[in-house]
Amino acid sequence: MIKRRKTRKVKIGDVEIGGGAPISIQSMTKTDTKNVRATLAEIEDLAKAGCEIVRIAVKDHASMPPLRKIIQKSALPVETDIHFIPQLALDAIGIGAAAIRLNPGNINKEEDVKRIAKAAERAGVPIRIGVNSGSLVPPGRKSPAGVALKGGSIVDSMVKSALIYTKIFEKSGFRDIMISLKSSSVLETIEAYRKMAGFCDYPFHLGITAAGPLTGATVKSAIGIGALLLEGIGDTVRVSLTDDAVKEVEVAKDILSSLRLRYFGPEIISCPTCGRCQVDLTKVVRKLEQKLNAIRYPLSAGPITIAVMGCEVNGPGEAAHADIGIAAGRASGILFKKGRIVKRVKESDFVKEIIKAL
Ligand code: SF4
Repeated sequence: MIKRRKTRKVKIGDVEIGGGAPISIQSMTKTDTKNVRATLAEIEDLAKAGCEIVRIAVKDHASMPPLRKIIQKSALPVETDIHFIPQLALDAIGIGAAAIRLNPGNINKEEDVKRIAKAAERAGVPIRIGVNSGSLVPPGRKSPAGVALKGGSIVDSMVKSALIYTKIFEKSGFRDIMISLKSSSVLETIEAYRKMAGFCDYPFHLGITAAGPLTGATVKSAIGIGALLLEGIGDTVRVSLTDDAVKEVEVAKDILSSLRLRYFGPEIISCPTCGRCQVDLTKVVRKLEQKLNAIRYPLSAGPITIAVMGCEVNGPGEAAHADIGIAAGRASGILFKKGRIVKRVKESDFVKEIIKAL
């Protein structure tokens, strides 16, 4: 069991973050916010995939009327992503955004931050202090909340930036804060969150920024987010992929379920296959995955494992340890349920028999 860091609780819409709440999954739309229909369709897809909070980029004042429509119809609570223009945060709060993400690297005049804190307080809207290694204040530029990189490490600058920003909110009496400290480096990200955890009890939004394309970013996110979660650090996660946002949600779900922090449905245990395998295991597993997604196995039934193994080397062992398993042989396999052999099944019936055994 992972012992989670004790954090304050904040709420984004109906979703609780921190304070022992389940670690939530979020993503960000990739459509142009001004395209209301496309953005709502993307949010719908994200919600279906299991996303719980959606972040939307708000680039300029012209984005505000479409944003209002999106917030009204969104299937998920909307966190608005605001940079450079403080008034956009005030306007987003005014039209019902469920949370605001601010970047200390580009909105950092104390009076602006205080005005936003007051408006957020009145509206009951939480703020995420989203520090990003790519937008730390450059050397020589004065700012109360940004930190110039004068020879200090990026990690220390990120943490200092978050601490200074947090203080401004605290001076205004505002504590509905979440914090993220994202770097494109896995090691820097882990170090930054670890350090910050020693300074506050605000809930953390975890992510590796600009993590790259699907495979590499999945690995980076699994290592970075996974390492922190193993230490009990993290209250909500966003996997960043240069790919479909729905895949971000799928990867996040896999990270959380691998650590047994959340349960989203049966876990498939399948071997990579090799020269010993005498069935088309890849095809079987793909079909099984599709079927399981389609039937939406009830979460109330509790965690369940399904092993689909290619031969007698590890097959019978894994199949017997799983709740349901198949150890394949030549064009057929032995079906196991709760460690006991049920019967021999034909390769073409593997998926049907597994689903029947659920
Ligand atoms: Fe190969 Fe058998 Fe291991 Fe699968 S279980 S990888 S088929 S040895």
